[in-house]
Amino acid sequence: MSTAPPTDLELLAVADAAAARAYAPYSSFHVGCAVLARDGRVIEGVNVENAAYPLGVCAERTALARAIAEGHHPGDFVAVAITASPCGGCRQWLHEMGVERVVFRNGGRVLTMTPDELLPESFDSADLQ
Ligand code: ZN
Repeated sequence: MSTAPPTDLELLAVADAAAARAYAPYSSFHVGCAVLARDGRVIEGVNVENAAYPLGVCAERTALARAIAEGHHPGDFVAVAITASPCGGCRQWLHEMGVERVVFRNGGRVLTMTPDELLPESFDSADLQ
């Protein structure tokens, strides 16, 4: 068993595989996400839709919520790979979780950006004080 962390493209391949498990009966838009934590663990997520459409949850949020539930903390996340470009709400989550870099597909390209590049001038807890 290798102890080397996955490369960004390997992490994206994990997200691709996870996407097959998405629950997306309404949009048929299957999204997968793979989060690489600092301890080397990879946490997967998929989008989960609901008949009450606004209640659906994006793959990034299911992966990050699962990571938090399993004991990780904001700042523990080295990379997040997503099979599609993150929506605006998820960009706020990526910022809040202190993700170092985000790897995602958009228009046939694979892009790597920081949360600050994805959501400049973002709102955070310092703004609440
Ligand atoms: Zn989203």
